[in-house]
Amino acid sequence: MKIPFNKPFLTGKEITNITDLFNSGKICGNGKYTKLCQEFFKTKVGFPHVLLTTSCTDALEMSAILTSIQPGDEVIIPSYTFVSTANAFALRGARILFADSHADQPNIDETKIEGLITAKTKAIVPVHYAGAACRMDRIREIAKRNNLLVVEDSAQGISSYFIEEDGTQKPLGSLGDFAAFSFHETKNIVSGEGGMLVVNNPDHIMRSEIIWEKGTNRSAFFRGETDKYGWVDIGSSFLPSEIIAAFLYAQLENMEMIQERRIAISRLYRQQLTPLEQKGCLKLQKTPAYATDNAHMFYVLCNSLKEGNGLIDHLKKQDIFAVYHYPSLHRSKYYLDKHDGRELPNSDRYADTLVRLPLYYELTDEQVGFICEEVNKFYGD
Ligand SMILES: *Cc1c(COP(=O)(O)O)cnc(C)c1O
Repeated sequence: MKIPFNKPFLTGKEITNITDLFNSGKICGNGKYTKLCQEFFKTKVGFPHVLLTTSCTDALEMSAILTSIQPGDEVIIPSYTFVSTANAFALRGARILFADSHADQPNIDETKIEGLITAKTKAIVPVHYAGAACRMDRIREIAKRNNLLVVEDSAQGISSYFIEEDGTQKPLGSLGDFAAFSFHETKNIVSGEGGMLVVNNPDHIMRSEIIWEKGTNRSAFFRGETDKYGWVDIGSSFLPSEIIAAFLYAQLENMEMIQERRIAISRLYRQQLTPLEQKGCLKLQKTPAYATDNAHMFYVLCNSLKEGNGLIDHLKKQDIFAVYHYPSLHRSKYYLDKHDGRELPNSDRYADTLVRLPLYYELTDEQVGFICEEVNKFYGD
């Protein structure tokens, strides 16, 4: 039987919510279900201000507008990330300075950040790859010292935490001035396309609502804070329709159940592949001591591109679909001639050797067993 890389999970409640919505007669944005989703994150996670968006890309674009980046300003971003992390800032004319990943895990190496800061730097954009926290205490410290904003690309970071030195756990998305989440069908919690902006910095809350509402003060008007509404700033159509929010709310109501199963699958992979790691055949996904694992993905690190290709081909012959992830952005067609020429060897290594195995709610224990057996066979065990 074919084992796809990803299969979006439906809880069954999505259609009930959407039917309820149609009966209410209002399907445009910022209605009952949008508010329910936003409240969920405020009360259950403790985010101070939440705006649903049509994608994480949109939430990142909103962040770039909020940072008031001007053409020629600079932002520091890991090279090993999705194109939207950088594109959101490139759209505003920013120059992107790409930082390398850690040697032992793909997140931005925070020790490489300070050397890239100039008088033009405006923001640092850490990406919590695989839902594992970046070293946020250090990153915030660097940002504070240099008067920079921090935008968390938390697209994969739902239900995951950064562990402070004193042991307190802080949810990803609560640590930057802004944070962007994704509900794309490949993430843990989905609405097809969808996303969310978290605004932690109180100075930017009012403006975030204006940007969200096409540059108008419509939200303040509906709260009765102003007697008419009009064009007060730049903005765009960033808010999703209620149909998406109704779908998303069904997923959020079942988040614990979804997370429990994903974490169980991820543990099974680890158990069954640890012997191969101990023999030195490959390396397993590493979660730093200051991070939690939300089972967004399970990846292995092969020893070379050739070995990775071999593993992916071997699995494909068994109808198992494993995939690489990002090519380094500093080597991309669009950015190659804009990059300052620094080598970023760790990013390149993850581009060539990080292979993600199937991970989705409906993947059975038996299927995980079969996939691990085939990985073992590939390594001659
Ligand atoms: C998925 C993802 C995005 C983009 O999310 P969309 O909701 O598809 O726009 C951005 N950054 C990272 C790290 C992602 O994994």
